[in-house]
Amino acid sequence: MAAASVKVAVRVRPFNSREIGKESKCIIQMTGNTTTILNPKQPKENKSFNFDYSYWSHTTPEDINYASQLQVYKDIGEEMLLHAFEGYNVCIFAYGQTGAGKSYTMMGRQEQDQQGIIPLLCEDLFTKINDCNNDNSMSYSVEVSYMEIYCERVRDLLNPKNKGNLRVREHPLMGPYVEDLSKLAVTSYNDIQDLMDSGNKARTVAATNMNETSSRSHAVFNIIFTQKKHDTETDNTSEKRADSTGAKGTRLKEGANINKSLTTLGKVISALAEINKKKKKVESFIPYRDSVLTWLLRENLGGNSRTAMVAALSPADINYDETLSTLRYADRAK
Ligand code: ADP
Repeated sequence: MAAASVKVAVRVRPFNSREIGKESKCIIQMTGNTTTILNPKQPKENKSFNFDYSYWSHTTPEDINYASQLQVYKDIGEEMLLHAFEGYNVCIFAYGQTGAGKSYTMMGRQEQDQQGIIPLLCEDLFTKINDCNNDNSMSYSVEVSYMEIYCERVRDLLNPKNKGNLRVREHPLMGPYVEDLSKLAVTSYNDIQDLMDSGNKARTVAATNMNETSSRSHAVFNIIFTQKKHDTETDNTSEKRADSTGAKGTRLKEGANINKSLTTLGKVISALAEINKKKKKVESFIPYRDSVLTWLLRENLGGNSRTAMVAALSPADINYDETLSTLRYADRAK
C-alpha cells in the first residue's frame, strides 16, 4: 500500500534566558505556511520552506502564526486520533536540537493550558471511548508501553529496574517488536499520566548519569488501542487495532557523532515521501532495518499508517546551523 504523505509542522519557541543573555537576534520569520531563516552572517541569504503548519510562539497571541498548545493539538493530534479510530497506525514525532521544544510540544507542562499533544490526545481518546460505550456492539482496550532507544539499545521506561537491554524481534504477522517490554493496560487518562510521569523520571535519571545521552536518546511512547466490533446477530467479533506512537528524537548530529537512528529516520521518511509523490506502490527499498528506531516504527511509518512530525526550532542567531539543519530535515519529510 502506498504511504500517505507526512504532515509536517515547524514550531519556534520563545528565546531562553541564555539567548537573551547573549542578546541573540531572531532569525526566524513565519508568514502563513512559510518559514524563513535568515543567515546572520549574510543577511541577504534567506532560505524559505513551506510546511503544513508554521507555528510561532514568542510574541503576543494576536500574532497570526501564534499557536497555543491546544491549537497544535487540534491541528495535528485530533486528526491523528481520528485516523487511529479508523484503524490506521499513527505516529507523531518531534525532532530538533536539545532545548528546542520537543518535550514541550509532545508532553508540555503540568500547568493548565500547557499540556502537550500526548496528554491531550490521551484525554480525548478516553472521552471518545466513554462516548462510544453506549454502543454495546463495540468494545475498546488501551495499553501503553514506553521505551528509550539509546545507541541502538532498548530500555523499558515502565520497568526501569530491568536494567538490561531488551531484544528486538520480528513477529511473522505483527512485525518488529521488543521482547519483554512492559505493556500495561490503562482505563483512564490518569492511568496514562501516572505511567508517563514515572517513565519520564526513569529517563531523567539516565540522562544525568551519562553525558551526551540527551542528544542520542529517543523516547517512544506507544499506545495500543484495540477496537472490537461484536456482531450481535452472528456472534462474530472483528478487531481493529491501531498503534499510536509519540516519539521524541533529537537533531541530526553531523561529524563524529552520527546518530544512526535519526539519519535513518530521515532516509525512511524521505523515501516514503518520494513514493507518495510518484504514487509508487512498492516500499521494498525503504531502509527500515538500518536502525532500531525505524525498524520498530516500521508499521507506524509506512503501509497502513499516518505520520505527523513537528520540528522544534530555536529563534536565535547563535543556533543558525542547527536550526537550518532541522529545517532541511523537515523539508525532506514532505
Ligand atoms: P527539548 O525537549 O527539545 O530538549 P524542551 O521541550 O525541554 O526542549 O524545551 C526547552 C525549554 O523551552 C523548556 O523550558 C520549555 O518549557 C520551553 N519551551 C519550549 N517550547 C516552547 C514553546 N513553544 N512555548 C513556550 N515555552 C517553550
